Amino acid sequence: MMCPICGADSAVALKSERAHEHRTVFSRMCTNGHRFTTAEVPLTLLADKRETECALRNIERRIALYKRNAAIALDSRLTKVVAAEYGLTEARVRQIRASLSPREEQPKPKTIALNLERIES
Ligand SMILES: [Zn+2]
Repeated sequence: MMCPICGADSAVALKSERAHEHRTVFSRMCTNGHRFTTAEVPLTLLADKRETECALRNIERRIALYKRNAAIALDSRLTKVVAAEYGLTEARVRQIRASLSPREEQPKPKTIALNLERIES
């Protein structure tokens, strides 16, 4: 199975049969060391077909959205150009880029910094 993080091939590191939960859980690791978990559930045990299809559509929609956002975060062109290409506002593009880039230490707003000094002294 493909790793959801990097797309590399993966192997099952641990398989646990959970008979009381009617499922089998697989702990997997890809060739680049990412760990993820999958589960095998008989379709007949899922509540109803429509619910299952709806859940699958939601998962696919979220994957597509994540891929789009990752592409936006990696795009080095100007915010204006990227926003026009994806039909988004520039503010939304900046928001997506900020949410997917490594967090930097942000200076605390002045009032919070002052209150912290008061508490500490
Ligand atoms: Zn991986």
